[in-house]
Amino acid sequence: MEIVNRRQRMTSVLRKLRRAGDTTVGLIPTMGALHEGHLSLVREARRMCDVVIVSIFVNPTQFNEPSDFKEYPRRLTEDTALLTDYNVEYIFAPTPEEIYPPGFSTYVNVEGLTDSMEGAHRPGHFRGVATVVTVLLNVTRPDFAYFGQKDAQQTIVIKRLVRDLGLDTEIIVLPIIREPSGLAMSSRNSHLDASQRAAAATLYRALSAAEISYRAGERSARKLIEIVRAEIIKEPRFGLEYVQLTDAETLKPLDKLDARPALLALAARIGGTRLIDNVLLAPARTGNTGALPKIV
Ligand code: AMP
Repeated sequence: MEIVNRRQRMTSVLRKLRRAGDTTVGLIPTMGALHEGHLSLVREARRMCDVVIVSIFVNPTQFNEPSDFKEYPRRLTEDTALLTDYNVEYIFAPTPEEIYPPGFSTYVNVEGLTDSMEGAHRPGHFRGVATVVTVLLNVTRPDFAYFGQKDAQQTIVIKRLVRDLGLDTEIIVLPIIREPSGLAMSSRNSHLDASQRAAAATLYRALSAAEISYRAGERSARKLIEIVRAEIIKEPRFGLEYVQLTDAETLKPLDKLDARPALLALAARIGGTRLIDNVLLAPARTGNTGALPKIV
Protein backbone atom coordinates (compact mmCIF):
# COMPACT_ATOMS: atom_id res chain seq x y z
CA MET A 1 0.00 0.00 0.00
CA GLU A 2 1.25 3.43 -0.90
CA ILE A 3 0.10 6.69 0.62
CA VAL A 4 0.07 9.29 -2.12
CA ASN A 5 -0.06 12.97 -1.21
CA ARG A 6 0.35 14.57 -4.61
CA ARG A 7 -2.12 14.81 -7.47
CA GLN A 8 0.62 14.37 -10.03
CA ARG A 9 1.95 11.20 -8.45
CA MET A 10 -1.58 9.74 -8.29
CA THR A 11 -2.21 10.53 -11.95
CA SER A 12 1.11 9.14 -13.14
CA VAL A 13 0.85 5.93 -11.09
CA LEU A 14 -2.55 5.24 -12.59
CA ARG A 15 -1.49 6.14 -16.11
CA LYS A 16 1.32 3.57 -15.86
CA LEU A 17 -1.00 0.92 -14.44
CA ARG A 18 -3.46 1.37 -17.28
CA ARG A 19 -0.73 1.25 -19.90
CA ALA A 20 0.58 -1.98 -18.42
CA GLY A 21 -2.74 -3.75 -19.03
CA ASP A 22 -6.47 -3.83 -18.68
CA THR A 23 -6.80 -2.76 -15.04
CA THR A 24 -10.10 -1.99 -13.33
CA VAL A 25 -9.73 0.90 -10.89
CA GLY A 26 -12.12 1.69 -8.02
CA LEU A 27 -12.18 4.90 -5.99
CA ILE A 28 -13.77 5.42 -2.58
CA PRO A 29 -13.82 9.12 -1.71
CA THR A 30 -13.90 9.70 2.07
CA MET A 31 -13.08 12.29 4.69
CA GLY A 32 -11.43 9.64 6.88
CA ALA A 33 -12.13 8.60 10.48
CA LEU A 34 -13.15 5.37 8.81
CA HIS A 35 -15.91 3.12 10.16
CA GLU A 36 -17.87 0.10 8.93
CA GLY A 37 -19.88 2.31 6.55
CA HIS A 38 -16.72 3.27 4.68
CA LEU A 39 -15.36 -0.26 4.93
CA SER A 40 -18.48 -1.71 3.27
CA LEU A 41 -17.61 0.45 0.24
CA VAL A 42 -14.00 -0.71 0.36
CA ARG A 43 -15.09 -4.36 0.46
CA GLU A 44 -17.28 -3.98 -2.60
CA ALA A 45 -14.54 -2.12 -4.48
CA ARG A 46 -12.09 -4.88 -3.54
CA ARG A 47 -14.50 -7.46 -4.92
CA MET A 48 -15.01 -5.61 -8.22
CA CYS A 49 -11.67 -3.96 -8.98
CA ASP A 50 -8.00 -4.81 -9.54
CA VAL A 51 -6.78 -1.61 -7.97
CA VAL A 52 -8.54 0.13 -5.06
CA ILE A 53 -7.88 3.73 -4.10
CA VAL A 54 -9.32 5.27 -0.93
CA SER A 55 -9.07 9.03 -0.83
CA ILE A 56 -8.96 10.66 2.58
CA PHE A 57 -9.45 14.39 2.44
CA VAL A 58 -11.35 16.60 4.85
CA ASN A 59 -12.55 18.95 2.15
CA PRO A 60 -12.67 22.52 3.48
CA THR A 61 -14.96 23.85 0.74
CA GLN A 62 -17.88 21.59 1.68
CA PHE A 63 -18.05 22.75 5.30
CA ASN A 64 -20.40 25.63 5.90
CA GLU A 65 -19.53 25.86 9.61
CA PRO A 66 -15.89 26.57 10.51
CA SER A 67 -16.25 24.76 13.87
CA ASP A 68 -17.49 21.60 12.12
CA PHE A 69 -14.41 21.65 9.88
CA LYS A 70 -12.06 22.31 12.78
CA GLU A 71 -13.53 19.57 14.96
CA TYR A 72 -13.99 16.99 12.21
CA PRO A 73 -12.12 13.84 13.38
CA ARG A 74 -8.79 13.26 11.66
CA ARG A 75 -7.21 9.83 12.15
CA LEU A 76 -4.91 9.06 9.24
CA THR A 77 -2.73 6.62 11.22
CA GLU A 78 -5.68 4.50 12.38
CA ASP A 79 -7.30 4.75 8.93
CA THR A 80 -4.13 3.50 7.28
CA ALA A 81 -3.96 0.54 9.66
CA LEU A 82 -7.60 -0.36 8.90
CA LEU A 83 -7.07 -0.20 5.15
CA THR A 84 -4.01 -2.46 5.33
CA ASP A 85 -6.39 -5.30 6.22
CA TYR A 86 -8.24 -4.76 2.94
CA ASN A 87 -5.14 -4.80 0.72
CA VAL A 88 -5.99 -1.38 -0.62
CA GLU A 89 -3.34 -0.39 -3.17
CA TYR A 90 -3.40 3.38 -2.65
CA ILE A 91 -4.51 5.89 -0.08
CA PHE A 92 -4.75 9.30 -1.69
CA ALA A 93 -4.37 11.80 1.15
CA PRO A 94 -3.68 15.20 -0.35
CA THR A 95 -3.26 18.48 1.52
CA PRO A 96 -5.79 21.26 0.85
CA GLU A 97 -3.13 23.10 -1.22
CA GLU A 98 -2.71 20.05 -3.41
CA ILE A 99 -6.43 19.92 -4.22
CA TYR A 100 -6.83 23.70 -4.27
CA PRO A 101 -3.56 25.15 -5.61
CA PRO A 102 -3.04 28.92 -5.30
CA GLY A 103 -5.43 30.78 -7.55
CA PHE A 104 -7.93 27.88 -7.66
CA SER A 105 -11.04 29.38 -9.23
CA THR A 106 -13.05 26.63 -10.93
CA TYR A 107 -16.10 25.27 -9.15
CA VAL A 108 -18.79 22.77 -10.12
CA ASN A 109 -22.40 23.70 -9.40
CA VAL A 110 -25.11 21.11 -9.89
CA GLU A 111 -28.26 23.20 -10.19
CA GLY A 112 -31.75 22.31 -9.02
CA LEU A 113 -30.94 19.05 -7.24
CA THR A 114 -28.95 20.99 -4.66
CA ASP A 115 -31.67 23.52 -3.80
CA SER A 116 -33.44 21.44 -1.14
CA MET A 117 -32.60 19.47 2.00
CA GLU A 118 -28.82 19.45 2.62
CA GLY A 119 -28.34 22.11 -0.04
CA ALA A 120 -30.87 24.43 1.56
CA HIS A 121 -29.52 23.95 5.09
CA ARG A 122 -25.81 23.93 4.27
CA PRO A 123 -25.14 26.81 1.86
CA GLY A 124 -22.21 26.05 -0.46
CA HIS A 125 -21.97 22.43 0.72
CA PHE A 126 -22.73 20.77 -2.60
CA ARG A 127 -20.58 23.21 -4.55
CA GLY A 128 -17.68 22.00 -2.40
CA VAL A 129 -18.67 18.34 -2.76
CA ALA A 130 -19.21 18.52 -6.53
CA THR A 131 -15.93 20.36 -7.03
CA VAL A 132 -13.79 18.00 -4.96
CA VAL A 133 -15.41 14.89 -6.43
CA THR A 134 -14.77 16.22 -9.94
CA VAL A 135 -11.09 16.80 -9.07
CA LEU A 136 -10.81 13.33 -7.48
CA LEU A 137 -12.46 11.63 -10.45
CA ASN A 138 -10.21 13.49 -12.88
CA VAL A 139 -7.05 12.72 -10.94
CA THR A 140 -7.81 9.00 -10.58
CA ARG A 141 -10.11 8.34 -13.58
CA PRO A 142 -11.64 5.28 -11.89
CA ASP A 143 -13.89 2.77 -13.65
CA PHE A 144 -16.09 2.74 -10.54
CA ALA A 145 -16.54 5.19 -7.65
CA TYR A 146 -18.34 4.07 -4.50
CA PHE A 147 -20.72 6.16 -2.39
CA GLY A 148 -23.06 5.44 0.52
CA GLN A 149 -26.85 5.81 0.53
CA LYS A 150 -26.28 7.52 3.90
CA ASP A 151 -25.69 10.72 1.90
CA ALA A 152 -28.64 10.12 -0.41
CA GLN A 153 -28.83 13.59 -1.96
CA GLN A 154 -25.07 13.55 -2.54
CA THR A 155 -25.32 10.32 -4.57
CA ILE A 156 -27.94 11.88 -6.82
CA VAL A 157 -25.94 15.08 -7.25
CA ILE A 158 -22.81 13.09 -8.14
CA LYS A 159 -24.59 10.85 -10.61
CA ARG A 160 -25.92 13.96 -12.32
CA LEU A 161 -22.53 15.67 -12.50
CA VAL A 162 -20.89 12.52 -13.91
CA ARG A 163 -23.56 12.36 -16.59
CA ASP A 164 -23.58 16.07 -17.37
CA LEU A 165 -19.79 16.41 -17.59
CA GLY A 166 -19.35 13.15 -19.50
CA LEU A 167 -17.03 11.58 -16.93
CA ASP A 168 -16.16 7.96 -17.65
CA THR A 169 -16.91 6.51 -14.20
CA GLU A 170 -19.78 4.37 -13.01
CA ILE A 171 -21.19 5.48 -9.67
CA ILE A 172 -22.00 2.61 -7.31
CA VAL A 173 -24.30 3.35 -4.35
CA LEU A 174 -24.33 0.97 -1.38
CA PRO A 175 -26.75 0.66 1.57
CA ILE A 176 -26.49 2.47 4.90
CA ILE A 177 -24.55 0.62 7.58
CA ARG A 178 -26.04 1.04 11.05
CA GLU A 179 -25.07 0.48 14.66
CA PRO A 180 -27.06 -2.24 16.45
CA SER A 181 -29.25 0.57 17.82
CA GLY A 182 -30.16 1.58 14.27
CA LEU A 183 -28.06 4.75 14.36
CA ALA A 184 -26.48 5.28 10.94
CA MET A 185 -22.70 5.09 11.26
CA SER A 186 -20.96 8.41 10.78
CA SER A 187 -17.57 9.90 11.59
CA ARG A 188 -19.45 12.65 13.43
CA ASN A 189 -20.94 10.08 15.86
CA SER A 190 -17.62 10.29 17.73
CA HIS A 191 -18.76 13.76 18.91
CA LEU A 192 -21.73 12.19 20.75
CA ASP A 193 -21.48 11.32 24.43
CA ALA A 194 -23.02 8.05 25.64
CA SER A 195 -26.45 9.49 26.40
CA GLN A 196 -26.61 11.48 23.15
CA ARG A 197 -25.62 8.35 21.24
CA ALA A 198 -28.45 6.42 22.86
CA ALA A 199 -30.88 9.24 22.06
CA ALA A 200 -29.63 9.41 18.46
CA ALA A 201 -31.21 6.02 17.77
CA THR A 202 -34.50 7.97 17.77
CA LEU A 203 -33.83 9.09 14.20
CA TYR A 204 -33.89 5.62 12.71
CA ARG A 205 -36.75 4.62 15.00
CA ALA A 206 -38.73 7.54 13.59
CA LEU A 207 -37.92 6.65 9.98
CA SER A 208 -38.75 3.00 10.66
CA ALA A 209 -42.12 3.94 12.16
CA ALA A 210 -42.95 5.76 8.92
CA GLU A 211 -41.70 2.83 6.88
CA ILE A 212 -43.93 0.41 8.80
CA SER A 213 -46.90 2.66 8.13
CA TYR A 214 -45.92 2.85 4.45
CA ARG A 215 -45.74 -0.95 4.28
CA ALA A 216 -49.22 -1.07 5.84
CA GLY A 217 -50.49 1.05 2.96
CA GLU A 218 -50.09 4.70 3.98
CA ARG A 219 -49.29 6.77 0.86
CA SER A 220 -49.82 10.34 2.09
CA ALA A 221 -46.48 12.17 2.35
CA ARG A 222 -47.94 14.54 4.94
CA LYS A 223 -48.99 11.65 7.18
CA LEU A 224 -45.69 9.79 6.82
CA ILE A 225 -43.73 12.95 7.63
CA GLU A 226 -46.00 13.52 10.63
CA ILE A 227 -45.13 10.06 11.98
CA VAL A 228 -41.42 10.92 11.82
CA ARG A 229 -41.93 14.29 13.51
CA ALA A 230 -44.06 12.78 16.27
CA GLU A 231 -41.32 10.25 17.12
CA ILE A 232 -38.51 12.79 17.10
CA ILE A 233 -40.41 15.23 19.30
CA LYS A 234 -40.37 12.53 22.01
CA GLU A 235 -36.62 13.18 22.36
CA PRO A 236 -36.53 16.84 23.43
CA ARG A 237 -32.77 17.15 22.94
CA PHE A 238 -33.25 16.84 19.17
CA GLY A 239 -33.62 19.92 17.03
CA LEU A 240 -35.15 18.79 13.76
CA GLU A 241 -33.88 20.69 10.69
CA TYR A 242 -36.03 19.00 8.07
CA VAL A 243 -37.96 15.87 7.18
CA GLN A 244 -38.77 15.52 3.50
CA LEU A 245 -40.39 12.96 1.26
CA THR A 246 -39.23 13.29 -2.31
CA ASP A 247 -39.03 11.30 -5.50
CA ALA A 248 -35.85 9.25 -4.99
CA GLU A 249 -34.43 10.21 -8.39
CA THR A 250 -35.56 13.76 -9.07
CA LEU A 251 -35.74 14.88 -5.40
CA LYS A 252 -39.04 16.63 -6.17
CA PRO A 253 -41.28 16.79 -3.07
CA LEU A 254 -44.20 14.36 -3.13
CA ASP A 255 -47.77 14.67 -1.89
CA LYS A 256 -48.79 11.09 -2.58
CA LEU A 257 -46.43 8.15 -2.98
CA ASP A 258 -46.89 5.92 -6.01
CA ALA A 259 -44.98 2.98 -7.51
CA ARG A 260 -41.78 4.99 -7.89
CA PRO A 261 -39.17 4.84 -5.10
CA ALA A 262 -39.43 7.72 -2.64
CA LEU A 263 -36.75 9.10 -0.34
CA LEU A 264 -37.68 9.91 3.24
CA ALA A 265 -34.76 11.98 4.53
CA LEU A 266 -34.05 14.08 7.59
CA ALA A 267 -31.43 16.13 9.38
CA ALA A 268 -31.42 16.87 13.11
CA ARG A 269 -29.08 18.25 15.73
CA ILE A 270 -28.32 16.89 19.14
CA GLY A 271 -25.93 18.94 21.26
CA GLY A 272 -23.46 20.40 18.77
CA THR A 273 -23.71 17.45 16.38
CA ARG A 274 -25.70 17.42 13.18
CA LEU A 275 -26.90 14.01 11.98
CA ILE A 276 -28.59 12.91 8.76
CA ASP A 277 -30.45 9.72 7.93
CA ASN A 278 -32.91 8.38 5.37
CA VAL A 279 -34.87 5.38 4.15
CA LEU A 280 -36.06 4.51 0.68
CA LEU A 281 -39.74 3.70 0.38
CA ALA A 282 -40.63 1.57 -2.60
CA PRO A 283 -43.08 -1.23 -3.30
CA ALA A 284 -41.25 -4.48 -2.54
CA ARG A 285 -41.15 -5.67 -6.14
CA THR A 286 -38.95 -2.77 -7.33
CA GLY A 287 -36.22 -3.66 -4.83
CA ASN A 288 -35.51 -1.59 -1.81
CA THR A 289 -32.03 -2.30 -0.55
CA GLY A 290 -31.52 1.18 0.91
CA ALA A 291 -34.31 0.67 3.41
CA LEU A 292 -33.08 -2.63 4.77
CA PRO A 293 -31.29 -2.07 8.02
CA LYS A 294 -27.69 -3.20 7.78
CA ILE A 295 -26.53 -3.97 11.27
CA VAL A 296 -22.93 -4.72 12.10
P1 AMP B 1 -17.58 10.69 4.47
O1 AMP B 1 -16.23 10.24 4.94
O2 AMP B 1 -18.54 10.95 5.56
O3 AMP B 1 -17.48 11.79 3.44
O4 AMP B 1 -18.17 9.44 3.69
C1 AMP B 1 -17.50 8.84 2.64
C2 AMP B 1 -18.44 7.89 1.94
O5 AMP B 1 -18.86 6.88 2.86
C3 AMP B 1 -19.70 8.59 1.44
O6 AMP B 1 -20.04 8.07 0.17
C4 AMP B 1 -20.72 8.22 2.48
O7 AMP B 1 -22.04 8.20 2.00
C5 AMP B 1 -20.26 6.82 2.85
N1 AMP B 1 -20.78 6.49 4.18
C6 AMP B 1 -20.65 7.21 5.32
N2 AMP B 1 -21.33 6.64 6.34
C7 AMP B 1 -21.92 5.53 5.82
C8 AMP B 1 -22.77 4.51 6.35
N3 AMP B 1 -23.16 4.52 7.62
N4 AMP B 1 -23.18 3.52 5.53
C9 AMP B 1 -22.80 3.51 4.22
N5 AMP B 1 -22.00 4.44 3.66
C10 AMP B 1 -21.56 5.43 4.43
